[in-house]
Amino acid sequence: MSSSRAALGAHIGKNIARRGLMLVLSSPSGAGKTTISRALLKGDPNLTISVSVTTRPPRAGERDGIDYFFVDRARFNEMVTAGELLEHAEVFGNGYGTPREGVNMALSAGRDVLFDIDWQGTQQLAESAGDDLASIFILPPSTEELERRLRARAQDSDKTVRGRMAKAADEMSHFREYDYIIVNRDIRQSVAEARAILTAERLKLARHVGLRGFVEGLRVGP
Ligand code: 5GP
Repeated sequence: MSSSRAALGAHIGKNIARRGLMLVLSSPSGAGKTTISRALLKGDPNLTISVSVTTRPPRAGERDGIDYFFVDRARFNEMVTAGELLEHAEVFGNGYGTPREGVNMALSAGRDVLFDIDWQGTQQLAESAGDDLASIFILPPSTEELERRLRARAQDSDKTVRGRMAKAADEMSHFREYDYIIVNRDIRQSVAEARAILTAERLKLARHVGLRGFVEGLRVGP
């Protein structure tokens, strides 16, 4: 899939064709991932977020097709069987997955794609996307702060918060599998760090497939 995706992802940036980038953000719930991804998307027309499917019920304020595609278990299983998901995993007893079509459409339109997925999904994407993938793991500054943020969010029941705290340690044990780490002490600083990573990843030599022709043109002169 890597080579066909590369062809899909090739696009023009300042007249030099570049391979599309898949940028993953993972963290335990409450570490600030959603805020950071929203900030990255804001004002960056070249970046689009992959909207996942999930079997979990919507939280207050979540909209179908924007935050998630909310599906029942039968539909989710159908999508898995039909190969409609680029990756999928069970998280907190619910099914989550990345629809293949949305990612392909975004990449073919010349946009980079942001993924808010867990470590299981990241492993699967890393296998299929190879060098086209860059991954960031976001850590909370402390366990106490993580719990405080989860409770402040107040969208989940007490039982769910306890479950999420228990899962956080498990999620965090996978931090070594990522390319970059951000410790989210200060959200503005963390957003700046995530932007810097995105910028540097976009500038990587290997992504500029049209560079040779561009440089040859420079040497020949006008
Ligand atoms: P939440 O229910 O809080 O929105 O998400 C729970 C966890 O599921 C988060 O760690 C989130 O990153 C992860 N997640 C969301 N969508 C996907 C997906 O499509 N695939 C995978 N593997 N994980 C996902």
